[in-house]
Amino acid sequence: MSSRLLTPAEAEAAIRQHATQLPAARLPLTELSGAVLRESITSTRDQPPFDRVTMDGIAFSFAAWEAGRTTFRVAGTQAAGAAPLTLRESSDCIEVMTGAMLPAGCDCVVPVENIDVNDGVARLRDDAPAPVRNINVHGRGIDSRRGDLLLPSGCRLGPAEVAVIASNGQTHALVARPPRIVVISTGDELVEPGQPLQDWQISRSNVYGVLASLRKHGYTSLAHDHVPDDLPTLRERLRSHLETNDVMILSGGVSMGRFDYVPQVLQELGVRMIFHKVAQRPGKPLWFGVGRDGQTVYALPGNPVSTLVCLTRYVLPGLQAAQGATPLAVETITLAQSYEVKPALTVFLPVMVAGRSAVPHPTRGSGDFTSLIGTVGFVELSPGPQVVLEDASLPLYRW
Ligand code: AMP
Ligand code: MG
Repeated sequence: MSSRLLTPAEAEAAIRQHATQLPAARLPLTELSGAVLRESITSTRDQPPFDRVTMDGIAFSFAAWEAGRTTFRVAGTQAAGAAPLTLRESSDCIEVMTGAMLPAGCDCVVPVENIDVNDGVARLRDDAPAPVRNINVHGRGIDSRRGDLLLPSGCRLGPAEVAVIASNGQTHALVARPPRIVVISTGDELVEPGQPLQDWQISRSNVYGVLASLRKHGYTSLAHDHVPDDLPTLRERLRSHLETNDVMILSGGVSMGRFDYVPQVLQELGVRMIFHKVAQRPGKPLWFGVGRDGQTVYALPGNPVSTLVCLTRYVLPGLQAAQGATPLAVETITLAQSYEVKPALTVFLPVMVAGRSAVPHPTRGSGDFTSLIGTVGFVELSPGPQVVLEDASLPLYRW
């Protein structure tokens, strides 16, 4: 490989290419949220499976109304969940409930607010809209037919997709097994939040930000740890975490400092480096590799803004790729004002969103994470020197 640094697009492509596919597992409906489908789902029935009444009211024969009839004897009641009644006389109607199967012989439903009922006879109100054939009936098979493809493999399951699987009568679906992820901070200056601090120490915040993001994106099989900048300890602890996890996310220790041991230790443990450093700000020292058993290892720079940016820009798409998700188009947005890019590196600019535009909210460097408060994510700007104009369409990555 040449010494030229990878661009963010190249780094992302390398991650997608090397992200080891997680095995598939059959999970129950209650555990499908956020999972990636590894089978295609075809409809087992027409949807709706029968002519479904969509209003509480009366059902009758449209031909009778066309012939001039506006009063109908109520011959019965058709509830949702009951086998269908049959209309015997065209002068009759059947009281129907939303969700009921349309009674045989009926092809028209008038809602209860458009009728008056007296002594078992329903009369269409004069001010009611004229009925239409099949009105207020959700016809069998209108939405999909038995055998239709409902969800392709690679589809990410949100609320609608889970509901569709349940409506198809399935108790389980084949999805990627959720990744077991360990998040590890490194650094002798870091102390657990809540513990006493010396003046030269800081609270260990990155791991909690990373865990918050992972939870937000639906990952629940999460562990975390902290390791000091000490070679033997780092070796021992990373070895043990590699044995029990699919994905390792490290923060800190990947730069040029004397105690930045992470890349060295990972390689000693047989984690093959795919790349180190990306032509970007923040987050240039990003390191990515693959372990002996296919574990994916993301070593993120420790500066808090770099950690969250690299997590969002690389780790989240990498986790999706490992689950076999079909890549989604990246959201785009324009800036509320033009913005000058100085470095000859891709710049990730944190933004707030006002109306339809992104309002730049630059940090004072990659250590300034308090400036991220209230931002929705960041836009990706091409290397400078250049001025990004207001109408330029920019990729937006949400936290
Ligand atoms: P490093 O990448 O280890 O050189 O760290 C870069 C900067 O980020 C240093 O100022 C660290 O103190 C800080 N840092 C590293 N890890 C964390 C963490 N987990 N939480 C907060 N700050 C961190
Ligand atoms: Mg460090």
